[in-house]
Amino acid sequence: MKRDKRLAFIPLALFLAVTGAAPAQPTSDQAALSQQVSAWMAEGYDALERWDYAQAEEIARKLETAAASAAADTKIQAKAAYFHGRFQFYTADYEASRPALERYQELDPGNVHPEFTDFLAQVRFLADLWKDRLEFKSEHFIIRVKPGKDRILVEPALEALERAWPVLTRELRVTPPGPILVEFYPDFPAFSQATGLSEQDVKTSGTIAVCKYRRFIVTSPKALVQGYDFQNSICHEFVHHLIYLRNGKHCPIWLHEGIAKYYEPRWRGEPGGTLPLTSLSLLAAAVRTDQLISFERMHPSFAKLDSPQQGQLAFAQVTSTVDYLIRTYGQESLFRLLDELKKDTDYRQALQWVTGKPFPQFYAGWKEFVRQEHFQEIPGLEVVELDIKKPGEPGGEDEDQVSEADLKENEAWKFVRLGDLLRDRNRVAPALVEYEKARSLMPLNVRLLNKLGLAYILAQDYDQAVARLDLARTYYPGMADTNVKLGQAYTGKGDLNRAIESYEQSLTINPFNPFVYENLIRLYEKTRQTDKLEQTRKRLALVQG
Ligand SMILES: [Zn+2]
Repeated sequence: MKRDKRLAFIPLALFLAVTGAAPAQPTSDQAALSQQVSAWMAEGYDALERWDYAQAEEIARKLETAAASAAADTKIQAKAAYFHGRFQFYTADYEASRPALERYQELDPGNVHPEFTDFLAQVRFLADLWKDRLEFKSEHFIIRVKPGKDRILVEPALEALERAWPVLTRELRVTPPGPILVEFYPDFPAFSQATGLSEQDVKTSGTIAVCKYRRFIVTSPKALVQGYDFQNSICHEFVHHLIYLRNGKHCPIWLHEGIAKYYEPRWRGEPGGTLPLTSLSLLAAAVRTDQLISFERMHPSFAKLDSPQQGQLAFAQVTSTVDYLIRTYGQESLFRLLDELKKDTDYRQALQWVTGKPFPQFYAGWKEFVRQEHFQEIPGLEVVELDIKKPGEPGGEDEDQVSEADLKENEAWKFVRLGDLLRDRNRVAPALVEYEKARSLMPLNVRLLNKLGLAYILAQDYDQAVARLDLARTYYPGMADTNVKLGQAYTGKGDLNRAIESYEQSLTINPFNPFVYENLIRLYEKTRQTDKLEQTRKRLALVQG
């Protein structure tokens, strides 16, 4: 979850201070109405912040009635229009929000400040973007996509969320009142417009989805070179949603993220708090060298940390802290902590109240807990940055080139570049020699492992291909490419079930690659899985359309 500067738009106090002033010579009716309108607006903003849209709607209606009354002046009409526009923005009806905000601008041009201008520009952008939207409903969720390839996301997204619903509402003890809207933004610039997050923010924190205004704002996996595990990410946002429903703003960001990450794997039936090996390795090293990130440093957002390594470490720390709390003090302790925080208690005091230990003692206990887990520090492991696609750039199935920056960073890349040249001239055996030279210098580089996998496939040495690619998948499970190549390697070996499993796995990260569907169709035919065959043909048509 992200809180960012652009979404704060117009501070309530400022707005009321500027627009709440009575006209120069008000009648008593006008003065009374103006006062009433200000009170309603304050209530309305509060309702919006609490995601109580039913109450906000009622207030919007009261304001409209007030604006239509004889005693209303243009200031009152302007306020009613503004609130209406803001309310419609919260409900994601941008086309209804835009004219209301434009009316506000006309009625009260002297009161238009830069925050409002930015807000209106954002609403106009979103209204244009979503005017041809498609929406698909399940029992508890609505998925919104642009027409075209993103249609492929709908079924897997709804499937994951509906699986998550009973588990997470039960375990977090909150049930959302109505259906939750999930918007998939087609590319990164659109996601950035909707959230105010920059490319750097996204790279540092790995934030590709945000829970805000009672909805999920999500980047389509087709906006990233490698795609990403979008089902997991939307379930992560669902946890944030439930925490917000439970605690409103009374939960520090480190705990919000810790709980979201802790519960994120539950929809797949995996135990809470499961972390990838890279995260555990970073955590073990940071505890050993005392280079942990303070909870204060994580505020107000993980996106403001220094690097993707820091982002990943921060996530590992907070997830592990929640894990420690639950394992040491019981499941109830988490809920007692959340309840205590609702009283606006400082988190250190709240933790002390729950655990009976002053914070430094609790924190030392957690560090000892991490040491006792003996997580393996894996030398040579790298943190993979999210790679946002440039406009017009093709998907992750295309070969990645060795860059000047790579060469500067590690001279092993010169062997890789030579390997690429040889391979492209069909000289696979000498190419493999070069790649293996590079591997002795950077044994766990995921790009290199994938190149090795491909070269061994070309050399028809499928056992070696699987060995390299398996290593890549173990340490970097989020790469669609690795799974595609594993599918090819297993097919070469004649292990059709493993080939199918690998291709299916790749689609959970990048569901846009037609090559994968084509291969799966052949494999389902061979293994006579007729139900999957039909479904896959339909899905292939969607990504080709
Ligand atoms: Zn999060």
